[in-house]
Amino acid sequence: MLSSTPVYKPDRLLILDDDALTGQTILNMARIAGIEAQFTDMPDEFFRLVQSWQPDFIAIDLIMPRMDGVQVLIELAKLDCQAEIIISSGVGGRVLDAAARSASEHGLKLLGVLAKPFSPAKLRGILRRGIPPATTEDAPAPPSNNAPYVPSKEELMAALQRREIHVAYQPKINCRTRLLAGFEALARWRHVEHGLIPPDTFIPLAEQSGLIDPLTEYIVAEALTWLAALPGQFATLPEHPYLARRLNEVSLAINISNRSLSNLTLFEKLEELCYATGVTPQRLILELTESCATEDPVTALDVLTRLRMKGFQVSIDDFGTGYSSMVQLARLPFSEIKIDKSFVTTLSQHKESRTVVKAIIDLGHGLGLYTAAEGIENFDTLEYLRSIGCDLAQGYAIKEPLDAEGIHEWLSSQHRDDEQHRLGVLHSLGLLDTPSDERFDRITRLATRLFNVPISLFSLVDENRQWFKSHTGIDVRETPREHSFCSHAIQSDQVMVVEDTWLDPRFQNNALVTSTPHIRFYAGSPVRVGMGSRLGTLCLIAEQPGTLDDKGRTLLKNMSVMIESELAGDYLAHIDPMTRLLNRRGFDARCDDVIGICNSAGLHACLFLIDLIDLKRFNQEHGPAAGDRALREFARLLGRVFRGSDLSARYGDDDFVVLLIDATPPGPERALSRFHHAAQSLYQRIPIHYQVGWTMLEPGDNMQQLVARASQRMHAHNETA
Ligand code: C2E
Ligand code: CA
Ligand code: CA
Repeated sequence: MLSSTPVYKPDRLLILDDDALTGQTILNMARIAGIEAQFTDMPDEFFRLVQSWQPDFIAIDLIMPRMDGVQVLIELAKLDCQAEIIISSGVGGRVLDAAARSASEHGLKLLGVLAKPFSPAKLRGILRRGIPPATTEDAPAPPSNNAPYVPSKEELMAALQRREIHVAYQPKINCRTRLLAGFEALARWRHVEHGLIPPDTFIPLAEQSGLIDPLTEYIVAEALTWLAALPGQFATLPEHPYLARRLNEVSLAINISNRSLSNLTLFEKLEELCYATGVTPQRLILELTESCATEDPVTALDVLTRLRMKGFQVSIDDFGTGYSSMVQLARLPFSEIKIDKSFVTTLSQHKESRTVVKAIIDLGHGLGLYTAAEGIENFDTLEYLRSIGCDLAQGYAIKEPLDAEGIHEWLSSQHRDDEQHRLGVLHSLGLLDTPSDERFDRITRLATRLFNVPISLFSLVDENRQWFKSHTGIDVRETPREHSFCSHAIQSDQVMVVEDTWLDPRFQNNALVTSTPHIRFYAGSPVRVGMGSRLGTLCLIAEQPGTLDDKGRTLLKNMSVMIESELAGDYLAHIDPMTRLLNRRGFDARCDDVIGICNSAGLHACLFLIDLIDLKRFNQEHGPAAGDRALREFARLLGRVFRGSDLSARYGDDDFVVLLIDATPPGPERALSRFHHAAQSLYQRIPIHYQVGWTMLEPGDNMQQLVARASQRMHAHNETA
């Protein structure tokens, strides 16, 4: 019978679970709680009931054989379901969190998550009050009594005009070297009456009220001005030249709202601001959330491409929380993936988080993107991220967001000589007690040649010894720290020279002076990583007294900087796996440095370009395995003919280059005839023809000009064997 007066109607709960026992349990608990409930394990039946019975609450299992929970959520969203949803499942917290996010992003009302095993009390609790969806770690602490202050559009506008909005900067570091990589600018509103208003409150307000673009512009102007002035604050202090140089290169990340994506004038303004402040667009990282790709993929592709063409870097912020597919991701020209902090803060608790983070890092690298993680709250997490190859890290454990003054203090304190910190950085690099490495040996070999000394070392000073990562001219791998010259040299950023140890009271009675290797002359230039932590030195040793003039000191310094670049660079990406020589990227990354060294030391250099003309034919006739062997033999031949200090690389599929350092004529001709000779005997076994082009380094040359000239000469002369 129908009644026109409102009558009491009990709440209705519909349960979908493939496990009858679980379903029945929830059903019973609901009925005890005075709720009308129905249970089904059939999706069809379930959707029929959703429409006909109109439940107030729906409880669904996430993992069912015929249909998964997320799919059910999507279907419910399509039906415009108004019921409040409870997710029940026996899966781990992460999956529940993800499903919870998925539900609310589909516009469903999520009441809570009921993790198994559950109790009637838990269910009652959810049905009465609801529990917050998804993770709660990132949410600001709920105010105890008074609700958070909600500002109006007018107030926000006034705040912008009164410059009440400030920028906080959070440092971002390289996981492996711990070198400062950049800062993220985060907006802060210090309200005169209501104190600090979190960005999570006023950014959405700005977006809704059309103030987001002026706000972004304001933040960028302030942040760029700050960044441009930062190196200058350290340049005048004699202890900080290294830091000032670093600060000239670090990046600045800016959050860009999805709403701004269609506003091209905003990006034009950002470009102008870059030029006005002298910070190149390459140093600006625009952080966009993943949803920009899903909301309007066509605009996203168009705008992102233009932004990259302007030189900006573009990062996908909060990655892992949205729905971008691999295809979308691969199509869009992002330069960085920033893994959402909800996965990072839970790395140590949830195995699922570790799996997700590892997968994102592999995905990012597979697409040639930098990977960054935010929300690093402890050093174990940082160490874990480093071990799985994450490039960049940001979080409270490194430093919380600070105002300009706070950052200045932090930078100064970072640089203070803190032995504990230095040792931490040294150990985190994982270099100690590892096999010798060609990239450092090349530099110490070059140092013995250029300075005409018998011994050159790349030393690392740890708690109680100096250990040699590279040692040219001496077979010793380590000496006790108390005898170490290098532990003196790492006390400052300058090159330390001891012209004659016999005359220096610090070293006269040193065991390395009075017995082998009888050090008489020593020069060491500190090798730095991180925020300038001096790990050890590149040093020169001789048995005779000697001097090092200013030019020599600069040269040694430049060579220690080459070691620093090797430490900071991505070496694996620079190696040709077949021949173990440098690949083209590896050669290109080093060639200009070597040219610089030759120019500053007044040395001749010469470039050989060698092209294996009929490698393709050889491959076809003898098979690819024989072709690979031929390439390896050829690489070994280069190793025999040219010096270990020269820079050789596999430059293309069938091209090799060798940059001969300190090659005064007729040195190059001699090297060429040695090469022809060796190649002829190899030809007996491996009949492949080659052609060579070579050229001397000329004043003003850079790498490209040098390679281009060698290539022209090769084609002109056709010095074919
Ligand atoms: P976001 O872009 O994901 O920024 C990172 C947030 O994580 C910041 O919150 C930061 O303080 C916080 N955070 C940093 N390290 C940790 C950590 O170790 N653990 C945890 N749990 N959190 C950490 P913040 O500053 O409150 O900013 C919140 C959000 O507001 C930002 O999230 C961003 O989406 C938005 N936002 C902030 N400034 C701007 C802005 O200038 N423009 C736009 N469009 N959005 C902004
Ligand atoms: Ca961000
Ligand atoms: Ca983020």
